[in-house]
Amino acid sequence: MANFFDETLVSPLSRCELDELSAVAHSFTDDEGREVVQLDDMIFVVDELSTRGFSGRKWTNGKLYYAFSSNVDQTNRTRFRAACAEWSNVADLEFIERTNQQNYVYVKSASTNSSYCGMIGGPQRMNIYNWRWKFIIAHELGHALGLAHEQCRNDRDSFVEINEANIIDGKEHNFDIRNTRTYSAYDFASIMHYGRKAFSKNNLPTIEGRPGYEDQEPYMGNRRYMTALDAAGMASHYGAP
Ligand SMILES: [Zn+2]
Repeated sequence: MANFFDETLVSPLSRCELDELSAVAHSFTDDEGREVVQLDDMIFVVDELSTRGFSGRKWTNGKLYYAFSSNVDQTNRTRFRAACAEWSNVADLEFIERTNQQNYVYVKSASTNSSYCGMIGGPQRMNIYNWRWKFIIAHELGHALGLAHEQCRNDRDSFVEINEANIIDGKEHNFDIRNTRTYSAYDFASIMHYGRKAFSKNNLPTIEGRPGYEDQEPYMGNRRYMTALDAAGMASHYGAP
């Protein structure tokens, strides 16, 4: 199951942990003047890390508001809404185009994919590059709804092995375990799981299944369909549709 943050599980990062994170992750000031750190495609507000840790806030009443940048054309707006429907079909979620709401996702066409984790308050940018991949957009929406990457679960070492030697130098932090709560079975096929060769510097696997789970390896990095566990996890987080 994807990595769901529980509102009741708040694990603030210490100053020392924040410094360590800032040293390895990309730190910058966002459009709204917030200090943020980016871990791969996930963006966290530093103030929230020091109060809530990686536990992203849920969207109030399951309503996620969004607005499109003028650089998103009609075709891609339709694609975005189709990705939203994948989540609203499986959980008590509504995706609503913003009128004057304060908290919303600002969807932009960009050269990479990225999203804030959870509802952070105020406008929060979502960059989309892979418009033709519905489940890459759904992956970014997963972050906006509060999910982190599946292989960062606390229990992941029972299921996968991380091959540090094959990871691009400086990208190892993307494979660190994050203090998050999980609800069900580890899901190799989750749309929130990295692929087998994510951040590989030598085309050798960076993530492998532990003995007994080798047959799951081909499913890692799936962006072609939402799994039953992705669906069940979101339903447990926001309620059934
Ligand atoms: Zn991601």
